[in-house]
Amino acid sequence: MVKICCIGAGYVGGPTMAVIAVKCPAIEVVVVDISKPRIDAWNSDKLPIYEPGLDEVVKACRGKNLFFSTDVEKHVAEADIIFVSVNTPTKTRGLGAGKAADLTYWESAARMIADVSKSDKIVVEKSTVPVKTAEAIEKILTHNSKGINYQILSNPEFLAEGTAIEDLFKPDRVLIGGRETPEGRKAVQALKEVYAHWVPEENIITTNLWSAELSKLAAIGKDSRIGPKFLNASVGFGGSCFQKDILNLVYICECNGLPEVANYWKQVIKINDYQKSRFVNRVVSSMFNTVSGKKVAILGFAFKKDTGDTRETPAIDVCKGLLGDKAHVSIYDPEVTEDQIQRDLAMNKFDWDHPMHLQPASPSAIKQVSVVWDAYEATKGAHAVCILTEWNQFKELDYQKIFDNMQKPAFIFDGRNVVDAEKLRGIGFIVYSIGKPLDAWLKDMPAIA
Ligand code: NAD
Repeated sequence: MVKICCIGAGYVGGPTMAVIAVKCPAIEVVVVDISKPRIDAWNSDKLPIYEPGLDEVVKACRGKNLFFSTDVEKHVAEADIIFVSVNTPTKTRGLGAGKAADLTYWESAARMIADVSKSDKIVVEKSTVPVKTAEAIEKILTHNSKGINYQILSNPEFLAEGTAIEDLFKPDRVLIGGRETPEGRKAVQALKEVYAHWVPEENIITTNLWSAELSKLAAIGKDSRIGPKFLNASVGFGGSCFQKDILNLVYICECNGLPEVANYWKQVIKINDYQKSRFVNRVVSSMFNTVSGKKVAILGFAFKKDTGDTRETPAIDVCKGLLGDKAHVSIYDPEVTEDQIQRDLAMNKFDWDHPMHLQPASPSAIKQVSVVWDAYEATKGAHAVCILTEWNQFKELDYQKIFDNMQKPAFIFDGRNVVDAEKLRGIGFIVYSIGKPLDAWLKDMPAIA
C-alpha cells in the first residue's frame, strides 16, 4: 500500500488529502500538523475549515484510509510520498520584507524530513513558493541525506477557497514538475498515477521543476478561476494567495533587474488597497462626513462567499477605517467566529497569514465592535449597512424589515453588487452599489474620494 503523508492540515492540505483518500481507497493518507487544535478539529464533527462538500468527503474516508495526526515525525518516516503544504506568508521583516515569501515553515519541515527519514522519499512541494525553492530544498535534503534518495516534485495547487472540493474533483489541470533524470521521471510518474485515479490523463501536465513553480505565479490564460469567477467589481480582492503571489512576482522582477515590470505588478496591490479606502471614504462622506458614534452593520467578513477564511479580507481594512472614524460596527458573517474577527481587527497587516498557534492569545475585545449571529440583529438600529461578502443569503433578506428597524436616512453600501438596488430604493434606502451610477443623494454629497 502506498503511504502518503501531508505536512500542513490547512485550507490546502486538508481538502486535497481528503479528495486523494476518497478517490484512491488503496492509498493510506495521513495529514499531520503541529497545531493540536487544528488536528483535533479535523478529527471532530466540526472541521476547522468550511468548504461546501468537505464534510461528506471527510466522513466517507476518515478512519479508513484518511487520518489526521500531530505525530508528524512518525508519519513522515513511514510515508513514501510526502506533500508539504505548510503556510508561506509574505516576509514581515528583513531582506524582501513585504514582498518575498517567508520560507521558515517550509525549511523547518524539510529539515525535519531529513532528520527522521529512513527510506527513500518523494517530497512534493504543494505550498506556493518562489521559483527555484525546490532546488534549495533539494540541497537541504541531499546534504543531510544519510544515503537516502530524495526526489523533489513541484505540484502547485490551483484550488480556490469556497469551491475547493469541486476544483479538486474536476481540476482544470494538475501540474507536476520534476527533475529531467530517470529517477525524476519515475517520481513524476508515481505522482501522476495518484491523480490518474480521477483526473483525465490530458489534464495532467508534466514539466521540469522550475517551469512548474513559475506556472503557479504566471498561469493566466489556462485558468478558469481567473475572470468572472474572481475579478468582479468589488470592495477589493482578498484571500491569502492572490496578493502574496503578486508580491512574489514583484520580488522576482526586482531581483532580475526588471523594476518597470515590478512596478506594474505593485500597482495591482496599490489599486486594490485604494479600492478599500475609497469604499470607506464613500461611506463616511455619504453620511454627512462623520460616522462617529453611528452604528454601521457589516454583512459578511470572509474574503468571499462559501468560506470562513478571513486572511487579507477587505472587511478588515473597511472595519478598521470605520473604527478609525469612531463608528460602532456590528458584524455578521455566517461562517466567521467572533474570536476570529476580534483577532483580525486587533492584528497588524501581514500577521494574519501566520498559523493560529503563533498568533497572540485572544486579544482584548475592541469595544466598538460587536459580532452577532443574525443579519437582522446586526442591522437593528443601524445608520448604514455595508455588504462586504457576497453570501447568497444576503440576497434573500427581508429588506423591508431591515429598513423599518434602521435609523433614517437608511444607507446600504453594497461592496459586492449583491442586492437589487432599484428594489431597495423603492423601499426607501439610499443605495450605493459598487461600480454603478450614484443615487441623486450621493451625488450631492461633498465627495472625499
Ligand atoms: P494554512 O495556514 O491554512 O495551513 C498551513 C498549516 O501548516 C498550518 O495548520 C500550520 O500549523 C502547518 N504547519 C506549518 N509548519 C509546519 C510544520 N513544520 N509541521 C507541521 N505543520 C506545519 O495554509 P493554506 O491556506 O493551506 O496554504 C498552504 C500553502 O498552499 C501556502 O503556500 C499557500 O500559498 C498555498 N495555496 C493556498 C491556497 C488557498 O486557497 N488557501 C490555494 C493554492 C495554494
